[in-house]
Amino acid sequence: MIVGVPKEVKQDEYRVAMVPAGVEELTRAGHTVLIQSGAGSGSGISDEQYIATGAEIVASDADVWKRAELIVKVKEPMRAEWEHMRSGQTVFTYFHFAADKHLTEAVIKSGITAIAYETIKDTKGTLPLLTPMSEVAGRMSIQEGAKYLERPFDGRGILLAGVPGVPPATVSVIGAGIVGANAARVAAGLGANVFILDVNLDRLRYIDDVMPQNVTTVFSNRLNIIDCLQQSDLVIGAVLIPGAKAPHLVRREDLKKMPPRAVVIDVAIDQGGCFETSLPTTHAKPTYIVDDIVHYCVTNMPGAVGRTSTYALTNVTLPYALQLANKGPERAVKESAALLAGVNIKAGQVTNAAVAETFGLEC
Ligand code: NAD
Repeated sequence: MIVGVPKEVKQDEYRVAMVPAGVEELTRAGHTVLIQSGAGSGSGISDEQYIATGAEIVASDADVWKRAELIVKVKEPMRAEWEHMRSGQTVFTYFHFAADKHLTEAVIKSGITAIAYETIKDTKGTLPLLTPMSEVAGRMSIQEGAKYLERPFDGRGILLAGVPGVPPATVSVIGAGIVGANAARVAAGLGANVFILDVNLDRLRYIDDVMPQNVTTVFSNRLNIIDCLQQSDLVIGAVLIPGAKAPHLVRREDLKKMPPRAVVIDVAIDQGGCFETSLPTTHAKPTYIVDDIVHYCVTNMPGAVGRTSTYALTNVTLPYALQLANKGPERAVKESAALLAGVNIKAGQVTNAAVAETFGLEC
């Protein structure tokens, strides 16, 4: 099979959908891998590294799309890419159709089969292609929080770790899922005093078991959230209610109870955010201030650490890409419940109930 990897065209997107190790596995299995020239540059991977593992470097994205039967990407196809999609082709990438009616219409019209990373479901019922990006965003949230607590970045001038004789910062993490647990672990590792809140007591029991002494679990309710806010220099929003908008657990009036120039990092912004005052921001301008509280609400945090994110993502996508190439998409989907759950649109026909319901389409 001919597998194609175009360079990502979305602004601030530095990831690439395949690393040389993936090319090696595919070419060893007898497939042809087309990599657009420069596709790996944002992640520090050169054309030569791809060539060394058997890839064919192709000059333009149009050439990749024209020749490949299976396209592997990171972000949903951008408007400039829509004209390249063609009937009979399978595209394996993040799509997030429900957020974009025009994209959905373009994919239906094109006749491609769209297999979405975000709906691949494993036997445990988890979404394995979302997990690594939550791990990246969770760990990164503390790194960003530490930076924006610095005075030149408008923060309150606090070092997370403290120093001998000066206490460390207090960090509250709302939501103890993948993002939250990763944030708490990094904050604790830096020596901060950490509170982590969730409504799922089993999850809090697990966190209590595995985290160091400086992490305290707290049941998430309004009074406990306010109590944590009052003490916190840094607050991480990491709540998810699957399929729904994030609840506004922190209201505007609550900000006045926080120390001035404290920082909030709302990782859940891609689901609307869990602070009432959160608005999506970009890596070009990540923060803004409301009522003397610094807000960081970047919707694609992993994009900033493209190299780590690329390797984390491709570790989990490659086994599925291999199945699609080795068996052909039709048989691979028939034999894998996980891949079947990923099919959102098959040859122009919507097959994912949530996407169909969002746009009132037949499924
Ligand atoms: P997850 O499902 O692993 O964890 C969510 C947690 O929130 C669960 O433990 C759940 O019990 C908890 N929760 C639900 N209601 C709560 C409440 N009222 N109070 C406290 N906790 C509550 O999800 P995740 O993978 O950790 O993702 C969290 C969010 O981060 C999602 O919205 C995800 O899309 C987002 N995310 C954003 C970026 C970014 O770049 N901004 C990157 C990755 C993930």
